[in-house]
Amino acid sequence: MIHNFNAGPSILPPSVFEKAAAAILNYNDTGLSILEIGHRTPLFKSVMEEARNLVKELMQLDDDHEVLFLHGGASTQFMQVPMNLLNEKDTAAYTDTDVWGTKAIKEARLFGNVDIVCSSKESNYNFIPKDFAVPNDAKYLHITTNNTIYGTQWKKIPRVSIPVIADMSSDIMSRVLDFNAFDLIYAGAQKNIGPAGVNLVIVNKNILGKVKRGIPTMMDYRNHIKEGSMLNTPPVFAVFVCLLTLRWLKEQGGVAAIEKRNIEKAALLYREIDDNPMFRGIAVTEDRSLMNVCFTTTDKNDESKFLAYALENGVVGIAGHRTAGGFRASLYNALPLSSVTFLVNLMKTFSGR
Ligand SMILES: *Cc1c(COP(=O)(O)O)cnc(C)c1O
Repeated sequence: MIHNFNAGPSILPPSVFEKAAAAILNYNDTGLSILEIGHRTPLFKSVMEEARNLVKELMQLDDDHEVLFLHGGASTQFMQVPMNLLNEKDTAAYTDTDVWGTKAIKEARLFGNVDIVCSSKESNYNFIPKDFAVPNDAKYLHITTNNTIYGTQWKKIPRVSIPVIADMSSDIMSRVLDFNAFDLIYAGAQKNIGPAGVNLVIVNKNILGKVKRGIPTMMDYRNHIKEGSMLNTPPVFAVFVCLLTLRWLKEQGGVAAIEKRNIEKAALLYREIDDNPMFRGIAVTEDRSLMNVCFTTTDKNDESKFLAYALENGVVGIAGHRTAGGFRASLYNALPLSSVTFLVNLMKTFSGR
């Protein structure tokens, strides 16, 4: 039995793997593989439509918010967002709470001015800044809602008078938020909602069409909206697996129900980290992520020993990011509580508790 704590691409529900595998061989009794049908056929059009509608339903989005499945991963959004929203002389406000935020800042600077309104870099990103000012004349505020590498998460979304844009790659649909309060949300699918190869973009259409620059066809959100997220050939299989995962999430009771389970899983692991003297947490307690639990051993010498012990017992993917060290257990939606219990028990036996 393998317990998969990988940070991304990461675990998906077993039923999703089964259905995806079956669809590769014979999609819906058509005698065709999902991999060999045209994206303009009614067969695939209904996949795209249902996937977009399920996102709207699960996130309770209003009619101003459009749902797109695009190529290029979350990293392409680092440039696509400012390209569509920021004039050369404009300023955008960015928060620097993880390496991902830093990368977003680098790309935004290619299109306009960036005001870094807060940063936790000095303390190796172990907390979420609280008191900072956001200029009213900035075009938008960009945040990374969950910081995958360092295990911090924004518990409260800043309330500002300008549009809020969020990279939700590692906590999308893992907790209830007022998603309509965001003007743009993007997320690589491979952490919570599907396989690698597609990213979800949710955009309030009213903020588009205001920049002066010419935008390449494939980069302009408006073109994708007009064509129902089928401007060119979409990553059909990745979208299909997202659809299966979204259906699964709905069956589980939706975002509110999965949030409850995510809280329970994280609480169990953090409790052991706090109670077991051989381990300690990395992020500041109040900002701890429900998705990526980062911790280390009190004695540096125990680190490689525990990693080997975990592997021997079928626990994979808990080595920390190469820039952060220690351990990172990712507890995404599809990870069962039983895997967390298993890891906690290993921590206990390792320390002889
Ligand atoms: C994983 C991740 C990314 C990068 O996603 P790609 O799809 O590989 O481009 C960006 N932001 C956050 C917060 C992430 O966790």
